[in-house]
Amino acid sequence: MSATAIEQHEELEEEKEKPNTICLVCKDRGVANFNKVFSCAACKSFFTRTLRQSKRIKDSVCKKQWDCFDQEPPFSRKCAPCRLKKCIDVGMLLTSKIEEALKLRGLALNQVIIILSKKDYRIQEKLMTHYSVRDPTLDQVLADRDCAKLEKMTPGIKMTAHEWAYLDVYSRIVSYLEFDFINFLEYKDKKILFTYNSMRMLLLGGAMRTVREKRAMLMTPDGEDVYPEVVYQLFGGCKQVLMEICCELSGKLIDLQVTYEEYLFLMQIFFLNPSISDQLSDKAKATLAEFQDKFSYHLLLYCQHTYQQHASSRYGNLLSLMTVVDRISSRLQCVSMLFQVMVPTFPFKKLVADTFVNIGTLPPPLQADEVSVPVQQEFFNEAMQNIEAVNDVKMEQMEY
Ligand SMILES: [Zn+2]
Ligand SMILES: [Zn+2]
Repeated sequence: MSATAIEQHEELEEEKEKPNTICLVCKDRGVANFNKVFSCAACKSFFTRTLRQSKRIKDSVCKKQWDCFDQEPPFSRKCAPCRLKKCIDVGMLLTSKIEEALKLRGLALNQVIIILSKKDYRIQEKLMTHYSVRDPTLDQVLADRDCAKLEKMTPGIKMTAHEWAYLDVYSRIVSYLEFDFINFLEYKDKKILFTYNSMRMLLLGGAMRTVREKRAMLMTPDGEDVYPEVVYQLFGGCKQVLMEICCELSGKLIDLQVTYEEYLFLMQIFFLNPSISDQLSDKAKATLAEFQDKFSYHLLLYCQHTYQQHASSRYGNLLSLMTVVDRISSRLQCVSMLFQVMVPTFPFKKLVADTFVNIGTLPPPLQADEVSVPVQQEFFNEAMQNIEAVNDVKMEQMEY
């Protein structure tokens, strides 16, 4: 049998199993499952053709109320924009690629959310159930996404906070590389993007997990403190900064009652920041800006659905979280860099070192009008004094 004959045969087999099923789009007699959506051949080919070729239909709007295919009986089965909308509403997707869904001017808002939440779920699932004894650098991860060789967690294996950070950074990098528009960036641009963003993503992801697990502060997935004991020994005098890193962002998420969907969009919008570094190529900046716009548009749309007339102020409040993420990550970068100077023997995982410590630049200076500048200054001074004191401590006696 030829390939099409086999397909037809399979379709007939499927038809026999479901003799009375109607097309979920046009309510005519359905033929087969297409991407798990039962539909007629006409709707299936309409959908494929439209997404692949017809810019005219994709850009056209319904002349009625966008409900031609929702009525009983249908007003008009000829309304192409409504038919496309219905196809998407019942779950048709050409591929699972988010790029396809994002192209549809918000028509596929739910699909975009589903794709993002599936990706986020997989990251969380990996963090809870896997571990890795490998120690790849950022370069190695970018060259081979499977290089961490994740293994299933077995009872008795306990991850340290540091290993958890490594796994978090690794899982998110792999997840972002599943986006073609990220994966196809120049190598140099990808490296810059992950070098500057990994800690931010860990902090925002961790803050949302803190909120969802109803904890008071950021902890590892199994409820352990995120700082190795030695950090308290060194920075004990300026505990406030350590606590801010663990509490401030999740506190803001609670204040704003940020929903899971909003969080998913913020993760993309903040990650795709084209001004994260001047070293990015113009092409990369353009790509990031393009997709940042698309995700922002979808977030605004979500806000409009959820908050109606308060949508734009809600949207503004959500985007303002970016400055909090930046501030907290610059704090954590300070702590990490000072920590490495003070405890050069600490066994940093290479991926964590590449994204927390060896970022190449000092954290950006805080804005002059920010009230918390003195805290940071104090913190620096105190930490520097501690370096003197630490020189007297025998490193090998410290508990990591
Ligand atoms: Zn149909
Ligand atoms: Zn219509």
